[in-house]
Formats: sequence, structure tokens, C-alpha cells
Amino acid sequence: LNPVPSDIEIAKKQKPKDIDVLAEEIGLLPEEVNLYGKKKAKVSLDVLNRLKNVDDSKYVVVTGITPTPLGEGKSTTTIGLAQALGSQLNKNVFACVRQPSQGPTFGIKGGAAGGGYSQVIPMDEFNLHLTGDIHAITAANNLLAAAVDARIFHESTQKDEALYSRLVPQKKGIREFSTIQIRRLEKLGINERDPDKLSPEDRTRFSRLNIDPDLITWQRVMDTNDRFLRKITIGQSPTEKGRERVAQFDISVASEVMAVLALTTSISDMRERLGHMVVATSTTGEPVTADDIGVTGEHPYISLPHKCSRYCIYTNTGFDLPFFQMMALLCVHSNYVLTGALTVLMRDAIQPNLMQTLEGTPVFVHAGPFANIAHGNSSILADMIALKLAGPDGFVVTEAGFGADIGMEKFFNIKCRRSGLRPHAVVLVATIRAIKMHGGGPTVVAGKPLAKEYSEENLELLEAGFSNPRKQIENAGYFGVPVVFALNRFANDTDSEVETALRLARESGAIDAVCASHWSHGGAGAVDLARSVIKAAESKSNFNFLYPLELGIYEKIETIAKKIYGADGIELLPAAQAKVELYTKQGFGNLPICMAKTHLSLSHQPELKGSPRGFVLPIRDIRVSAGAGFLYPLVGTM
Ligand code: ADP
Repeated sequence: LNPVPSDIEIAKKQKPKDIDVLAEEIGLLPEEVNLYGKKKAKVSLDVLNRLKNVDDSKYVVVTGITPTPLGEGKSTTTIGLAQALGSQLNKNVFACVRQPSQGPTFGIKGGAAGGGYSQVIPMDEFNLHLTGDIHAITAANNLLAAAVDARIFHESTQKDEALYSRLVPQKKGIREFSTIQIRRLEKLGINERDPDKLSPEDRTRFSRLNIDPDLITWQRVMDTNDRFLRKITIGQSPTEKGRERVAQFDISVASEVMAVLALTTSISDMRERLGHMVVATSTTGEPVTADDIGVTGEHPYISLPHKCSRYCIYTNTGFDLPFFQMMALLCVHSNYVLTGALTVLMRDAIQPNLMQTLEGTPVFVHAGPFANIAHGNSSILADMIALKLAGPDGFVVTEAGFGADIGMEKFFNIKCRRSGLRPHAVVLVATIRAIKMHGGGPTVVAGKPLAKEYSEENLELLEAGFSNPRKQIENAGYFGVPVVFALNRFANDTDSEVETALRLARESGAIDAVCASHWSHGGAGAVDLARSVIKAAESKSNFNFLYPLELGIYEKIETIAKKIYGADGIELLPAAQAKVELYTKQGFGNLPICMAKTHLSLSHQPELKGSPRGFVLPIRDIRVSAGAGFLYPLVGTM
């Protein structure tokens, strides 16, 4: 229709097919599909085993130039391209996208189901609870947060022997260490495995984590932007006996549990990663992990009902027996061999969610880690399953958040490094509006009308602003993957502007440059783009990482800053310098880097548009996500 109706009107007009019908169409067996109502389903990881001998399909990542605050249509293009490949060109195809957080959904950004005639439906279910994955993350995160404070409380109120007996209780005359406790003994270099024979000194070392309350990094989370919870005082009840401390709530999608979900490759891998998450530092400077807290391991005392001999369980924080029993119950009813309370809570969340586009193309919606302190990409597992289901002649179109300097760089250096998957093509989404902004156009502010420079033809601004797409095309080139430049056409764009942008993109090294109108025409508007992508994916790709993991922390950050952002160098502020030394000593030096930088500029200053030069990138601090498996430097003042 012209004019194009609102996103919600379009989404509501189209009746999605029942998800079990779609599941059958894409080759899933009924036992691999867990229905959540009629329009959403979770897909079992068993598919990976069943299809392990099937060759993967082509793997395409959609990224963008440095955007305006309005977004330039990466999600819309991901969906539009999948619709074109599927319903227009009859290819087996999947789109893989992130699940949005309720924070931005109820904020100025709105939902993330795409837009116009290129959307995931039902869009309200997509944008809101979906199948509860974010709620599961919230539960797992907060269980760990509660266990950290409970541990500090019990260590400060209990004598050594009582503490030890709580952690290693005697049940029916037997006392045994759990597997997770044996890991702790190994970490401490204690060789004894009989709990009754441990020396008093070793019992104390084993039982006391000595967490420094001022060095707790694990925060509580919720998926609402609640500014009044950004800084709070906890522990004010008289039962906590004066153990007050200042804490905060973060948004759920910023939890490391979310990053772990996005980067995991199996349920056992997830359990390991959840256990490695660092939650605090001890008074002697040692990192304290979720494994140390005891919310991740199995316990030897649980007696399982006979019918669930397949299941092994769960946890011992030493302090929450009712919780322990509840977890046992959960495992009885689940279909997995599970260990660890956090893993049990995440047992459904690990399965990708199946939905569909307006044109009935399958879409996996799975995980939505933040793109600054995390890597901003949907899950590895969804991509892996989709690559198998689409098969060797098919396509998987996956989206990387933010601009190519952030989302794409992390897609390659973090996600592909972890998954071992190798992409065949990059689609770089741009709009005339954003390119003009980079050329000196007035500031674009969400919620405010656009200046006339954006509604009238202006080739000068366009040519000047092309420095940004040019740099982002160069950035994709560092990884050896061919780039298709996709101009997401808006109603005001003139033919001369479109032609100029496409010419400049080809001159800048894109293998092809295409204008697409999927927002206003659905898949039919992205057929040329789809054809270009097919061609690019068949061309020679020479994938490589930007840096080897063995490089020092400083050198890895410097490589990203110089090559991808165009910086002259980096400056480590004192806190960051101290972390380089600490993390190198603690054995985290070989992790990949996840830069927490503004997405509104290639530099650290959002107001610097185009392709800024002559700047030194300040690194304020560095943090570790040891479970997810990356270091995240905090850039500038963001
Ligand atoms: P991104 O993923 O890059 O943040 P989205 O795909 O979410 O961007 O698009 C942001 C907003 O812009 C959405 O509301 C979408 O409907 C709208 N939009 C995208 N492409 C167009 C277009 N060609 N014309 C008009 N609006 C568009």
C-alpha cells in the first residue's frame, strides 16, 4: 500500500501460519518442536545431532554503517532479504535475529521486529515476553546475586567448623564433596578428597571465599528501565544485622548470563561457562566465580526418584535446602541431563525460538546481548541449527547489532571465533539520511522532525558523508569477506542520490551495491539485493581474524582502534593499565576483546561523524566476562 501503513497495522493484517505447520515445512520432527501457543515454538538442540552430516548453508551477516539514533534498517533488511531469498527466489532460508529487551522496546527506540512489509510476526509477541528467555536470565542472574550476599552473610556470622558442615553436610552417615567442590579443592591445591580428613586449615581455606563487599561486580538485574534502581542500598532488614551495602540493578540483557547464552554451543558448554563467571574479588585479590559460590555444580546427596535415573542434578550453596529440593523437582520434569542450578533455570532458554516473517519465512529469535559491554549478536546455537536446516543450497541471514565497527567486528572476532563458523558475505546497510548526516547534515534526534537537508536532494552532503560507508567497507575487507552494499531506500531519496551512493560504494570496494525497497514492498523489493548476495556468497572468501588471541591485551585493543576505528593509537588510563596487568596475571590475557564504545561514531566521541582521524582512543577501564569469554574495555566516558 502507498503510503505504507504503520508497522503494527501491517503486522496485525497478516495472519501467521501455525508454527507447527512451519516447523514441518522446514524439516523439523514433531519431537524437536516445543510449542509455545500457536505462533511460537522452541526448537530442540537434538536437531544438531540428527543433521550432523548435512553440509551447512551459506552464512550471511547483515551489518550497517555508523547509524543515526533512529537506526538505518539492519533488522528490516535482515528480514526483507530473507523474504526475498525465500518467497521470491525459492531458496531455503532462515533469518536469525536478537530478542529485544523491554528497556528499549518501551523507550524511544521501540521494538525490533523490522519494519514496514519486512517484519517478524506476531510482532507484539516478538517484542514482549516471547517464550520467557529474558525472564529465565533474570532468574538465574538474581539467584547468583542472592547467593553472593548470602555467602558473605554466612561467612561473617558462622564459625569455621559450622560453615564447613553447612557446605559439606552429612546425609545418612555419608559426607562427600560435590564435583564442583572438588574443583574448588583443585583450585586451592588441596589433594585430600575425604571431607572428614581435611585439616582444619584446609577446611577454613575451602569454606571461606572472603569476598570483599566493595569488589562485588555481580549486580541484580531486571528488564525494565527503572532509573530509581540504578543505585540502591541493600541489606537493611534487621535480620541482615547491619550488613548494608550499595548495589544496583542493571538491565537483564546486560547480564553476563545473556552473553553466555548467546555464545554457548551446547548445554554442557553453557554449564561450564556459567560456572566460570566472575562475581567478585576476594580480600586477597583472587577472582571469585559462580562455581566457587556453589550455584552451578551437582551434589552427591540428592536421591533421585527411580524414574529419573537419567538426570543428575544441581547445586550446593550450603544454605538453601528448599531451593535445592525445588531444583531437583524441576530436573525430574525436564528432558535433559542437567547439572547446576543456573543451568537448570536456563534449560529452556537455550533452545532457539522459531517465528516467521510476514511472508512465512522461518526466523530464529534467540538471545539479545547488549552491543557495548557484550557482543550484540544473536545466538550461535540458532545460527548453527539454521545452517543445518537450510542445508547446502540454502542461506542463513544473521544480524550483528550497531555499526560494522562494533557489531560486525565482534561477530567475526568473538562469535565466529567461538563457533568456528565462517561467513560467506557481509551486507552493509546504509541510508541516504545517515550518509548525509556523516557529511555534515544537522544532528538527527529521535522523536524530532528531520531537517530539510534530509528531505531534499543534496549530493554534496552525500559525497562528503561517504567517508563513513567507505571506512566500514574497508573494515569488512580486513576479514576477507565480500561486501554487498545495501541502500535501504526511503521515500524522500532521489534517483540521483541513490545512483551516487551506489557508484561510490562500488568505487570503495564493495563487490556489489544495490538499492532495496523491502520496507515498502516486502521481499519483492529486495530481489536484486538477494541476487547480489547469492553471487557474493559464491565468490571467493578469504576469511581471517583481525588479531590472534595470543597478542597482548594492549596490542589487541590497539589493533582494533587503529585498523577499525582509524585511531592514531590508544591511551590506557590508570585503572585500565592496572587491569591489563591483573588480567594477564590471572590468565585472562588470551580472551578476545569486546569494545564498549559509542555506536554513534567510529571514534569515542558520538558527535564526530564521517571517518574521524587524528584521535587517540582513551580506555577508561577494562572488565572481564570470564564465562562469556571476553574482556571489555570501557572506551571514553560512555
Ligand atoms: P536497525 O536494526 O538498524 O536499528 P530497524 O530495522 O529496526 O533499524 O529500523 C528502524 C526503524 O526504521 C523501524 O521503525 C523501521 O520501520 C524504520 N524503517 C526502516 N527502513 C525504513 C524505510 N526504508 N523507510 C521508512 N522507515 C524505515
